Amino acid sequence: MEVPLFHVDEIRHFPLMACLPERQLERIARGAADLRLQEGEWLIREGEQPWFFLLVEGALDVLKELTGKDQVVNRYKEGDFFGEVPLLLGTVTFASLRAKENSRVMKLDRVQFKEIIDSSPDCSALVMKTMTSRINMIQDRMLDIPVSRVLVVGSQYDTDCRDIRSFLSVNRIPYEWVDKEREPERVPACMPAELNGPAVVVDHAFCVGQPPTVRKVAAALGYRTEPRGDGYDVVVVGGGPAGLAAAVYGASEGLNVLLVERASVGGQAGTSSRIENYLGFPGGISGDELSERALRQAERFGSEIVLTRDVQNVAQIDGGWCVELDGGKRISTRAVILATGVDWRRLEAENIDRFMGRGVLYGASRMEAQTVVGKKVFIVGGGNSAGQAAMFFSGYAESVTVLVRGEGLKLTMSQYLIEQIKTRPNITIEPYTTVVSVGGEHALETICTKTRGEEPRTRPADALFVMIGANANTGWLPAELKRDELGYVCTGRDLPGWADKERNPYPLETNLPGLFCVGDVRHASIKRVSSGVGEGSMAIAFVHQYLATVQAPVEQVALV
Ligand SMILES: Cc1cc2nc3c(=O)[nH]c(=O)nc-3n(C[C@H](O)[C@H](O)[C@H](O)COP(=O)(O)OP(=O)(O)OC[C@H]3O[C@@H](n4cnc5c(N)ncnc54)[C@H](O)[C@@H]3O)c2cc1C
Repeated sequence: MEVPLFHVDEIRHFPLMACLPERQLERIARGAADLRLQEGEWLIREGEQPWFFLLVEGALDVLKELTGKDQVVNRYKEGDFFGEVPLLLGTVTFASLRAKENSRVMKLDRVQFKEIIDSSPDCSALVMKTMTSRINMIQDRMLDIPVSRVLVVGSQYDTDCRDIRSFLSVNRIPYEWVDKEREPERVPACMPAELNGPAVVVDHAFCVGQPPTVRKVAAALGYRTEPRGDGYDVVVVGGGPAGLAAAVYGASEGLNVLLVERASVGGQAGTSSRIENYLGFPGGISGDELSERALRQAERFGSEIVLTRDVQNVAQIDGGWCVELDGGKRISTRAVILATGVDWRRLEAENIDRFMGRGVLYGASRMEAQTVVGKKVFIVGGGNSAGQAAMFFSGYAESVTVLVRGEGLKLTMSQYLIEQIKTRPNITIEPYTTVVSVGGEHALETICTKTRGEEPRTRPADALFVMIGANANTGWLPAELKRDELGYVCTGRDLPGWADKERNPYPLETNLPGLFCVGDVRHASIKRVSSGVGEGSMAIAFVHQYLATVQAPVEQVALV
């Protein structure tokens, strides 16, 4: 005979259950899941599909992610029920629940919840009354939430200012930006007039020390910029999709993982305005949202993520590896996963370097939207990244001109993007066209292009985004690491077997045992988000196999 997890006598005294007819009460007791949570354990996270819950024992904190941080906004006690708001509104869960103490929770699905409402007018009235008061509470709280945590004052053309804004944007930290040159009247009176560079205020109080840097801003916002320890099972270099996947899988499978990222997480994908082909997001997802979710996931599993730090050297030491960060900090690790991706290829055109950051940019971050409103934008490149950027900026700019060296987009861009571009009247494609030079006084003002069979043509330009492919930047890695002629790192079957070992390199392992490589920087990889994620995840399985063959954690040893 089926034994119910809850006995009716355990729950009938709760006001919601007391309204139910005896037969329904028995059915609910018989069909509900009985969840036991330890103190600190999550019941559900913001953004997940909702369930209906009744707290039978203990207490739960209600946490809402506000301006980038989880904050306790309410507490549930024994007898409280919850989950009715997202279930009845058809949304995802909009707050997280964590056990304040050891707790016992009854969990019901959508059908069981509907049965409760349908089976008694009193139950239905109680649920509606609770829901109304919660919606009112949510409304009041939303009005109290500060819209941004950070104020950045600085010029559109200041590189430090742009780097800081880019960091905030990719990490989805709401910020307000006052462009000193365009809107001097909005510069807060408290800012010293003699300041040349940018100024940053965090949480309306803390003024980031002068001159502000991405690292100082990250630290002021509570991001880790220094590793906690000296020794790890695996250090992941690079926080793009491949590195983040390795961090999520590594920590979830019990490894002590450190991920080091020189800027902010997301890598190239973080700059994509809409990734439409990643599994599980039928409406597409922006690169920064995907990256931010992955970051939270990696941290939730216990990976340590250090931002704004550059890995400058990796070297084999006795039984493992030593990883050196900028500033000379050294970390020992049993294995390393390289996930450093690629950097934008430089455009050969007269004056291009002079206007770098002053109208000319490599890549195209969503953050630039504000700077191109009503302007003339040029994009060089015919790949998917150029197509996405054209679509995105066409919503802001007066005109977007895509300059393509070849005959058009057919061979280089996905068909779905070509179709989307056709629907935007302010996007023009110019085939067989290259950039000859750029000009201007302090910032970009003109562009000179050459189209096959025509005379060079100079015209006004406010912004030029260069997206002409990318190079692997692997010159800093050990000389004995095998790379192809373009610098991409060889792994697994690209390599000859090891004559002096009982095994050959694992897939995704380089010719140096314990040094793995995943994602775009790997020779012959498929340069996509999903393949990077797949490789990052797979690499962990091979790291486990490798670790089984080597001795216990390494001591910290000097870099050779
Ligand atoms: C604009 C754009 C749009 C795109 N759209 C799509 C799309 O729609 N669908 C799709 O599948 N793919 C898309 N791609 C391709 C996809 O983003 C890449 O294939 C993917 O990001 C590769 O991931 P990765 O982790 O290997 O490398 P990357 O994303 O390049 O990440 C590497 C990371 O390593 C860091 N790093 C490098 N060196 C160091 C170091 N020494 N120390 C510390 N950190 C370091 C970098 O800062 C970077 O964050 C797009 C790419 C771009 C640029």
